[in-house]
Amino acid sequence: MNYDNIRIGLERQLSDELYKTFEGKIIKKLLNEAQIEPQKENVKSIFEGMNFKISQNLSPKLYSLCQQVQERLGFTDKTDYFIANEPTLNAFSIYRAEESHSHIIVLNSGLVEKLDDDELMFVLGHEIGHLITGNSDLLRIFEFLFTEDNPIPLIFYNKIQLWKKVSELTADRFGYIASPIMDKCVTNFFKLSSGLDTTRIAFSPQEYLAEVENQVVKMQQTKTVQYFDHPVNPVRVKALRLFSESDLFRNYANDDKKYSDAALNTGVQKLCELLYTIDDSEIGVHRKNFIAAGGLIIAGVDEQINEEEMTSILYTLANFTISPQEFLDSIVKSGKVENLFAQSLVAIVKMNPGERFNLFAFLIDIALADDSVNKGEIDLLFTLGVKYFGLTRKEIAQMIAAKIQAGFVPSVFK
Ligand SMILES: [Zn+2]
Repeated sequence: MNYDNIRIGLERQLSDELYKTFEGKIIKKLLNEAQIEPQKENVKSIFEGMNFKISQNLSPKLYSLCQQVQERLGFTDKTDYFIANEPTLNAFSIYRAEESHSHIIVLNSGLVEKLDDDELMFVLGHEIGHLITGNSDLLRIFEFLFTEDNPIPLIFYNKIQLWKKVSELTADRFGYIASPIMDKCVTNFFKLSSGLDTTRIAFSPQEYLAEVENQVVKMQQTKTVQYFDHPVNPVRVKALRLFSESDLFRNYANDDKKYSDAALNTGVQKLCELLYTIDDSEIGVHRKNFIAAGGLIIAGVDEQINEEEMTSILYTLANFTISPQEFLDSIVKSGKVENLFAQSLVAIVKMNPGERFNLFAFLIDIALADDSVNKGEIDLLFTLGVKYFGLTRKEIAQMIAAKIQAGFVPSVFK
């Protein structure tokens, strides 16, 4: 079975990129050799034997559900299933540390109690999907690298957040292959989000699906920017529905080898745009161009863009794009840095005049990023400030002075 064809293109691309960026192979080897186990509380309790392991003898029904799901997905890796004594409706998977070990999937007891067999099979398929794609493997690396004291650097933050959300959409596809009943998926999402039993409120999957369609249209119209970790339910349900009705799924179910599905890809791509935390409104695009072009101009005036200046530009850009480095490279390659600078600035000031002070402050930050005040940089700030920002020389001098006073530490080693 070719799993890669089931995956969402964006998820595959982001997974590969992040794995390479974070030297996944090297870190994995280190983690294995150091025998570092995940720090989650409920994982610890598994290793301490506190959780209930699903076995053929003690829980034959659950055991057979797990085996059926593995069979449907053609997944043969050894996997152990546990129930954690937790009322919340949740499940997660842990990628095995070594080939000879088993993967682990943990279902909370609340989940097992509230979901019926078909719904539970969807969740099991979803969790196995995280194992198949290697997403839980990558997550293990991130959990090791980034902690509360050492959070994800901003420069990668947006990309990792997006990857997390899209990997849920991919995992849902595996859930659907394991339990291909759309109504059950819908009740599943409803139970997971509300914690309610569907009979309690006479829930109608059809009504819910119609509601979801409306919500997605509204989100697309208003371009709502999403700040949540998990893809909001409407996007998940809609993405899954597209998959359930797609040629890709039909061909897959009929064991047909035809795997490309342009219509599905386009539909899902449009949905994925709703998952970006990045502001891609008109003014957002101008801001992104301004940061890149303005940063390059100021940092390049002393002929060399050094590491501090580059980092400062990239970190600011990371607020506007998931791939700051690639975006900056594309601006350099375009050869139109100065044009872009002027165009974006004019456009922003037209839309929001007050913003010019913030934009100018960014240029000062870049000039001071390397902890050295350079005559060329200061002269350029004055020229640009007067010509493009409509500032007087006195205002410019005051702004630079205030920045220097606020935090400039001259570098000793030049
Ligand atoms: Zn998941």
